[in-house]
Amino acid sequence: MKTIGILGSTGSIGTQTLQVVEQNGDIKVTALAAGSNIRLLEQQIRKFRPKLAAVWTEEKAKELKQAVADLDVEVVWGMDGLLAVATEPESEILVTAIVGMIGIRPTIAAMEAGKDIALANKETLVTAGHIIMPLAKEKGVRLLPVDSEHSAIFQCLNGEHSQGRANKIHKILLTASGGPFRGRTREEMAGIQVEDALKHPNWSMGQKITIDSSTMVNKGLEVMEAKWLFGVEMDQVQVVVQPQSVIHSMVEFEDGAVMAQLGTPDMKLPIQYALYYPERRVLPGDRLDFWKLKEIRFEKPDFENFQGLSLAYRAGKMGGSMPTVFNAANELAVSMFLNRKIGYLTIVDMIQAAMEHHHLIENPTVEQILETEKETYEYIESRW
Ligand code: NAD
Ligand code: MG
Repeated sequence: MKTIGILGSTGSIGTQTLQVVEQNGDIKVTALAAGSNIRLLEQQIRKFRPKLAAVWTEEKAKELKQAVADLDVEVVWGMDGLLAVATEPESEILVTAIVGMIGIRPTIAAMEAGKDIALANKETLVTAGHIIMPLAKEKGVRLLPVDSEHSAIFQCLNGEHSQGRANKIHKILLTASGGPFRGRTREEMAGIQVEDALKHPNWSMGQKITIDSSTMVNKGLEVMEAKWLFGVEMDQVQVVVQPQSVIHSMVEFEDGAVMAQLGTPDMKLPIQYALYYPERRVLPGDRLDFWKLKEIRFEKPDFENFQGLSLAYRAGKMGGSMPTVFNAANELAVSMFLNRKIGYLTIVDMIQAAMEHHHLIENPTVEQILETEKETYEYIESRW
């Protein structure tokens, strides 16, 4: 029996992970962590019976403790709680379905404890990839991508070995839907409201990543995620807009052969693939119907009007602490936009201003990454 822990069990990826667990029936959930949705977490604890559960605040922990007093589950809270869930001794795989850079410390702790990571929390890899990738090698743990594009690339690389070495990737073609505002100019996006930006054409996801998809910041983060996961340069990752989200990404090899992974837009596939890799399991749900589909269209990304993507390439190429500034500025800006404190276009303005203000640190430690995050927040708060 496989054993897993989940950071962010009440979110979009977290709940779909538990659906996969339920459908398969041969995975044991040892530990769950969530932010503040105590009612859902309680239901999950009753159904999956983990030994350990974490929430973010002490107050919520008290509430949860009362709710599950009849069960044999330990309730913990705060960063220590997340670290406890991440390192729960019995679990083999940690699913990082938490949102934001808060995932850095628990992910590193889990790897140090020898756990494989089913990685959804891209912000951690974007900001600390230079620490995570060597650590994975050193500890002999696997990073199993959950992000649909990276799972697609991972699947395209299956069997691409010759004489024990991986065949060289010429280029990664990272597909993008283009989001709900594809085709609009910057001026036409000025008045966008929270409700508009939360309507993604193909995928149903958490709020932050849905906003990131609309600004193309998500694609920018994914380019950096791909760079770390697959050991390529930023310029080897080419974004291809494919509005139907049928091709989840492609790899071009040195001989010009292109491998692609296709499917319906359902995150349960990459989640299940990560949990059972390299085994494929039956997955109920819709299948691609090529007769209904008829055509798959491609477009170039619009770097002019979607500056979030251009800034991501710039941050990724500069490396060091710059991806942290890019990501931290975006995290704060998106939460301010969701709280209706700033307009839509200010998200990208904030990222740009924070990047211009920052003095690059070449090879930041975890402490320096977290310090850079704090400084970025302070800078934005002082200016807006
Ligand atoms: P979400 O907002 O739906 O869920 C986030 C989860 O993290 C929730 O369970 C929340 O309670 C928990 N959380 C947040 N802050 C916390 C804290 N301080 N302490 C403990 N728990 C906390 O987000 P999501 O859409 O599921 O995305 C999760 C991650 O997966 C993100 O990094 C996102 O970029 C990535 N991802 C998501 C999708 C998707 O389809 N949703 C696809 C690819 C990648
Ligand atoms: Mg993705």
